[in-house]
Formats: sequence, C-alpha cells, structure tokens
Amino acid sequence: MFKILKTSKKSRARLGKLKTLHGVVPTPFFMPIATKASVKTLDSADILNLGAEIILSNTYHLLLRPGMEIMKKAGGLHKFMNWGGPILTDSGGYQIFSLAKQRKITRDGAIFRSHIDGKQFTLTPELALEIQKNIGSDIAMILDVCAPYPATRKVAEEAARLTTAWAVRSKKIKNKNQLMFGIVQGSVYKDLRLQSARELMNLNFDGYAIGGLAVGEPRKDMFKILDYVIPELPAEKPHYLMGVGQPEEIVEAVRRGIDMFDCVLPTRNARHGLIYIWSPRLSLRGGRKPTKQSPEIAALSRQGGIARKDRFYDTLHITNEKFKKDFSPLDKNCSCPTCKNYTRAYLRHLFIAGEPLGLRLATIHNVHFYLELMRKIRKAIRAGKF
Ligand SMILES: [Zn+2]
Repeated sequence: MFKILKTSKKSRARLGKLKTLHGVVPTPFFMPIATKASVKTLDSADILNLGAEIILSNTYHLLLRPGMEIMKKAGGLHKFMNWGGPILTDSGGYQIFSLAKQRKITRDGAIFRSHIDGKQFTLTPELALEIQKNIGSDIAMILDVCAPYPATRKVAEEAARLTTAWAVRSKKIKNKNQLMFGIVQGSVYKDLRLQSARELMNLNFDGYAIGGLAVGEPRKDMFKILDYVIPELPAEKPHYLMGVGQPEEIVEAVRRGIDMFDCVLPTRNARHGLIYIWSPRLSLRGGRKPTKQSPEIAALSRQGGIARKDRFYDTLHITNEKFKKDFSPLDKNCSCPTCKNYTRAYLRHLFIAGEPLGLRLATIHNVHFYLELMRKIRKAIRAGKF
C-alpha cells in the first residue's frame, strides 16, 4: 500500500510510493484541489498534462452540489469529471467548521445548514464514509472535529475526544477499494496532540493526517507541532499535512516527515494574478551574490535542505504596469505550456481585459510550479541531498 523507498540521512524526509485503486503515486506529493469536481479553470486533460498524479475533492461540497443522487448516477467522481487518476476526498469536517451557516456538533455527528440554500444536513462519521464511497475516492478521510484557532484547552480537548470517538465508529466501516486515513487533532496543546496521535494509531488507519493546522496559528507553532507529532506516528504509514501551504512550508514539512500536501494557494493566487517563479537571485542568509546554478536545486540541496530564510522562489503580480511591454515568458526557467507559448504582456492584457483565459493560463503555470517543486524535492531526496 505504502512503501518507503528511501529515507534521508539528514532529516526525516522520505521518498515513497502510495498504491491506490487508480494508480501508484510517488511521495512526497501535492494534490491540486478540485473542491467542486474541477480544478478551477482546468479540465481533467490539463491536470493530466501538468503531471498531477492525484487530486483532492470534497465531501461537503459534493454533498450539497450536485448531490449524491447525481454522483451515484454518474458512477462516481472519476467518471463524472473524466479523471482516471487517484482522488482523495476530504471528509467535510473542516468545511462544516469554516463554511456552514449554522452548525451544531453532537456526540452523534454534525448538524449544519448548507451555505448555499440553508438546507439542514446531519453528517455522521458513517454517512461521511458512505458519501465518500459513492464518490468513489481512492483515499477517504474520516469525519473529524476541527477546533478553531485560537481554541481554549477545553474546546481543543473536546474536539480531539470526539475525533477519536468518531474514528472508532469510522473504523467499523470497510470499503476494500478505499484507503482510510485518521486525522490527528488537539490544536496547539502538545499532550492533546500526542494523545490524539496515539489513540488513532491504535486503530490502525492506512495513513495519518495532521488536521487543524494552517488555521491562523503562527508558522513556528505549526512546525513545532510537526516536530513532536510526526515521530509519534507509525513511520511505515503515509503522513498528510492538510491544507498546507506556501512552497517553503512544504519544504520544511517534508523535512519533518510529511508525505502528502494539498492547498488552494497555487490555484487561488493564480486567479488573483499572483504568479510563482523560480528565483533568479536566490537570496541567502548573509546575502550572497547571484548564482547561475539552478537556484531551486541549490536551495534544496544546501546543507540538507533549504535554509530557513532562503527564498528559492519569488512571486509577481502580473497586472503590474511594468509587465505591459514585457514580452518574455512568466518564468524563463519554467517549462509549462503557458511559459512555452505566451508572454507576460499577453497575460497582463488578459487579466486587465477580464478575459477568462488569463485565469486559466496563470493556473496552469502555478499548478505546474507546485508539481515541479515536488518533483525537485523527490529528486533531491533520491540523490541524498535533501
Ligand atoms: Zn510556467
């Protein structure tokens, strides 16, 4: 199911393979987000061409729209969106916490009103898995309770306690075509996090996610939590950091033993004209001179990985006036279809003119950037340079 091919000697980073019903995915990997059965502005052929091996979709959103009757009639999400690769589905716990109009968490499950039409739903741990079975995802997440940030100890404790209770119920449901992941909660409280990790570990899930992070806590707290939670999790199972993050956060998390990521940043930022580019002038601590060496590899390989303050990438706002007559690609170091075929001046024009093509071309580039980052990370681990 999950096989570790290589473990870094310099950090907790691992190179591996995760086997799912719809294919084997090399780890560490990044999942572009297809919340509502599409990676916004891209179709499934685009996603495939960009080299994405797995995507993420969402139980909460698909339950509300198009609804389970249509999902069943379509024969599941793979057929519905014509995507042949693996899919992971989030259980809806996080969306109920962040989107639902009203919500009430009981011992049995979550009662909430749809943010679309106010219709009331009750999502139990069992129903969340039943829905994910109808969706036909390769990896199902159990329904969890995500504490807000900041959370009092009492709130965090209750969220972690319910998450474990729901995990026990979830484990009773078997779907042999699907991997099932548990989600560690406990907010920023070390003993709660460790207890949550141990309780879930005893249930023997196929993989373990760390939830309730990237919800507003300082970045250093997130890394601190990873530092003590990951060694507690079974090393032979995949580790998934939900909803993270910026490229440098991904690098830091891989270093701490995370294998799987998802985040809206590359796609959402693209639609706002924020473009990721490999830095032509890697700025190092102490400020070194510009280097001609491939900066991302230099960054990734330097002393067991990227130094904390190193920036191996930059961002640019494509709507900026200075790109008006810039007929170079978004990033001359990028091999994506957008950079091979179009210029900054053209993309700026599309954004200024409100042409939907601009959103699409920017999304293609940013998703490519994230996937390329993961390829570089895997290459660096393989070469013993991460
Ligand atoms: Zn590009």
